[in-house]
Amino acid sequence: MFRILIIEDEKKVAEALLEGLVRNGYETDTAENGEEGFYLLNTKTYDLLLLDLMLPGHSGYDILQTLRDKGMKLPVLILSARDSTDDKVAGLDMGADDYLGKPFAFPELLARIRVLLRRGNHNTETRLSIADLEMDLVHHTVQRADTPILLTNREYDLLRYLMENKEQIVSREMLARQVWEVTNRVTPMDNLIDVHITRLRRKIDEPFEPRLLHTVRGVGFILSEKEKQP
Ligand code: CA
Repeated sequence: MFRILIIEDEKKVAEALLEGLVRNGYETDTAENGEEGFYLLNTKTYDLLLLDLMLPGHSGYDILQTLRDKGMKLPVLILSARDSTDDKVAGLDMGADDYLGKPFAFPELLARIRVLLRRGNHNTETRLSIADLEMDLVHHTVQRADTPILLTNREYDLLRYLMENKEQIVSREMLARQVWEVTNRVTPMDNLIDVHITRLRRKIDEPFEPRLLHTVRGVGFILSEKEKQP
């Protein structure tokens, strides 16, 4: 079953879309803003994003930019009342896959969704990389500078999360929630996370240059190609 995320601040529109998509067999979630949207995108896997442009706080453009900067390749269909050619071009330039001006006929939306999902199936992201560190999501293998690196399942999940969020600081709280799926944060969790980070660093960083996994004092960690961290 395909999973679709809708980021749309107008409740009525979001509800109508949700209902229609669920009725057509799509598993669907809605988010009212970018923050909620990214939380869901980081928590679950989606096959398609329906994105409104005019949102409170971060606009649809910001969301799209962040998404593509993170290397997330899921198909994005922009739904917006702003349907001037300029907006359309801007959206497509920023990595949207399609654009539908509001108001639209629901069958047309369904048709476009089907096209994107068919296309998306062929180029689903199967590899993550930073510098010469590579992760193959199909075969569950990791290598750096062409040297295979053996990870435990937990180390693999941890590295995957860090790679999906590369060049961004992730806190221990995020790791506890996303990698260990622990929601109530207690002190022993921090120690466990630190132990895993140390082990992971030994495997992916110690025999190689440059260092990629950095500790950001008092905040968390970052997987980054930049030597100096904030
Ligand atoms: Ca809106």
